Amino acid sequence: MAKKFHQPTRMCVSCRQRTPQFHLTRLQCIDGEITPFSGVGRSFYLCRDCLEEDKKIIRVLMRQCRGGDKDKHMNKLKEIITDDRKS
Ligand SMILES: [Zn+2]
Repeated sequence: MAKKFHQPTRMCVSCRQRTPQFHLTRLQCIDGEITPFSGVGRSFYLCRDCLEEDKKIIRVLMRQCRGGDKDKHMNKLKEIITDDRKS
């Protein structure tokens, strides 16, 4: 890379690595449901590497939502990731 961009970095809540924002998916939990970040409220980031690891992710989602249905969280997350990759 010839040019050096100043990238804002954010911390992935799963692996706690600081990563440029484009490498992360910003999510939040509203009423016990995982959603893409809506612009308001508490949110968290997950990096692409962690998003590949269901077992790690599920623990994070359960913690962020303070419980809930594991399968529901995972299905919702997969939907969000798919939408993310389409755009
Ligand atoms: Zn991560």
